[in-house]
Amino acid sequence: MTRQSWQILRVMALAWLVAGLPADAAGFSTTPSDFQQFQAKIIDHQSRLNPKFKKVPRKQTLYVIVHTSELGLSATLRVVARGKRLKSGRSTPGGHANYVIARDGTTYRMVNKRFRADHAGLSMWNGRQDISSVSIGIELVGYHNAPLTDAQYRSVGLLIKILQKVYGLSDPAVLTHSQVAFGRPNPWFSKDHRGRKRCAKNFDRDRAGLGPTVDQDPDVRAGRLLPDPYLADLFYAPGPAVAARVAATGPVPGLISKERTAWAIAGEEYDCSTTVYVLPNGRRLAGDQIADAMGWHLLPVNTRVLLNQEERHAENPAPENPIKRITDRMTAWSHAGPAYKFDSTIYFLPFGAVQPGSRIFDWDDLPLNTRLIVGYQGPFVITGNKTAYRIAGQKYKARTTVYYLPPGQVKTGAEISNFGRLPKGTQLYLPIDSLPPG
Ligand SMILES: [Zn+2]
Repeated sequence: MTRQSWQILRVMALAWLVAGLPADAAGFSTTPSDFQQFQAKIIDHQSRLNPKFKKVPRKQTLYVIVHTSELGLSATLRVVARGKRLKSGRSTPGGHANYVIARDGTTYRMVNKRFRADHAGLSMWNGRQDISSVSIGIELVGYHNAPLTDAQYRSVGLLIKILQKVYGLSDPAVLTHSQVAFGRPNPWFSKDHRGRKRCAKNFDRDRAGLGPTVDQDPDVRAGRLLPDPYLADLFYAPGPAVAARVAATGPVPGLISKERTAWAIAGEEYDCSTTVYVLPNGRRLAGDQIADAMGWHLLPVNTRVLLNQEERHAENPAPENPIKRITDRMTAWSHAGPAYKFDSTIYFLPFGAVQPGSRIFDWDDLPLNTRLIVGYQGPFVITGNKTAYRIAGQKYKARTTVYYLPPGQVKTGAEISNFGRLPKGTQLYLPIDSLPPG
């Protein structure tokens, strides 16, 4: 065949693909060239797959499953391609999604859509288990209790429309991982039940150009699974769509309340060593320590739950350095949880700017090596007659007192040797639970 006839075939194939795609897919106007551009820009990451991953063609494709990765971009790409560490200490062989969509909308192909990606784990829909074997998995970089971006909705909307066309899938065939995952009995459920995952529960179908999901959970209706009350209300109760309900979820997400158990917040990660519980008195316990230390039903209200914490937080550890750092593994969210955008979370940007969380809008571009402190008041500016001691009292040398020294240093009181030589404009920050300076 000549090059020219190839060219004609290609154009015809694209025209076929795009014909029948609604013009307003993804809630905004899309043209055939949008689909072409989107497809041309997908970054192929299949060469990064763990060589231990076995490529098995799927026999059937019944669903598209949307996930939130609960990690930053580079950690998501690494874990999806290379695998993750399990509680047992063993590792998985990777291949945990067919696609990853970054917060700027960049889309990565991780496992060719023909092959089974290992993304849904213990799962059931309409009586059928092992949903990974009959679905395509899409990971959105982000968290189930923080907003996804417009760019992500645009990309995922286009990608889903393309997959629907290729596999003949209706809108109700697009589901979130939280809808299809199920769990074995645990301290909160006596039988197999929904709610093992909170994954992508914040996915706003409207913004992805999708119609509503099904009216009822088919496996709960058939008595195969117990419902998860929180998710059942979110997905199937009549009334406003998911997005509006997520926004109205009363208490701060990530804080334990009477209605929101550890399970409701962390799902199956509730007892992992990487899930950290910060009790209202400041005590930190890892998920795998709670059962022995106090029992799940005694976790106090307002305990903060942090997911995907990197290091093990032993009980009574050496006092922790309050100055955290944003890295490609640790985002603002993984350090601060829902407090990431509070006034009391202070960010020290690498170029010298200082901003409270409430004043930062471009979370996706927060530079690496930005430092932050969580639960602080300030700044108290040090001057000739307002010394560190006048502001902080005995605590001026404490490890919990934080100083910003222009043009860009951040140190604790314990790290400063000469308080007589602080640069002009030095700022002091105190934990909010310490006495207000008088
Ligand atoms: Zn998931």
